[in-house]
Amino acid sequence: MADLRGGIDLGGTKIQAAIVDASGEARGEARRPTPTEGGPADVTAAMAEALGEAAAGAGVEPAALAGVGVGSPGDADERTGVVSSARNLPGWEGSFPLGETLAEALGTEVKVGNDVQVAVEGEYALGAGKGFGSLLGVWWGTGVGGGIILDGKPWLGRGAAGEIGHIVVERDGAKCPCGRRGCMEAYAGRAAMEAEARRRHDEGHKTDLFKLMHKHDKPRLTSGIWERALDHGDKLAEKLIERAIEALGTGVASACNVLDVEAVVIGGGLGERFGERFMEPLSTEMSKHLFVDDDPPQMRVAALGDLGGAIGASLLVGH
Ligand SMILES: [Zn+2]
Repeated sequence: MADLRGGIDLGGTKIQAAIVDASGEARGEARRPTPTEGGPADVTAAMAEALGEAAAGAGVEPAALAGVGVGSPGDADERTGVVSSARNLPGWEGSFPLGETLAEALGTEVKVGNDVQVAVEGEYALGAGKGFGSLLGVWWGTGVGGGIILDGKPWLGRGAAGEIGHIVVERDGAKCPCGRRGCMEAYAGRAAMEAEARRRHDEGHKTDLFKLMHKHDKPRLTSGIWERALDHGDKLAEKLIERAIEALGTGVASACNVLDVEAVVIGGGLGERFGERFMEPLSTEMSKHLFVDDDPPQMRVAALGDLGGAIGASLLVGH
């Protein structure tokens, strides 16, 4: 069974595990809610459990896998398997040897990479980025992450490349969750959009966003809530999405001016839900800022779906 690999997408709300064969097909899968209490050891135990269940579904022991790849939030060191400052995970402000600990629990080799970068690598190998030599992945979700493939190879820089969410689209602009000002994420990230919606709502702007959130029993303004509000013609939702698209167009075009990639793949929670719907306005916004505007990059929406992060992570095995 050495041609089967494991992949785990470690998110702030859920852990998604998959067993993937040599052609990139998932043979088994399982998910768990991410523990909200405890620390890195508890999160790692839940990851081992999810992987074990996915392996059972594929009829294989974890120890018989060629290895397991993990896409992790925070600062994930691909060389050492250490993950630091994963602030959306419980008690994970410091550093934790995730690769080593999980390898011990599973009895097989474990490779750790950045969650967005491995999802982009998955799209490059098997999904929307297939056939392109260079691409930029833009993961539009709670934050805005990115991943880069140049000449067929992942570009990690010194480890922190691809942070497209923190391209500055307005000097001294809106406050970003990273603490700086004017980043693309400060306008386009789901968390920042929710904060802005709340601020404007408190100022007296009319919107059904929060009513819809309560009605559907959601703890936050999910991509589904934004979609419902847009479908109802909610003016504030329309305005804030438009503002997000403008920021995305500015930031993504700026990155393209530097990298000149063949394609841009839009993924993430908001990206997958709204990619098709807003591809045209996004391209229009980009064209205002593209230096070479007669040959824009191909625009694609991520195609691997829910399992994309785990499938991409599995490709770390053998890196
Ligand atoms: Zn920022």
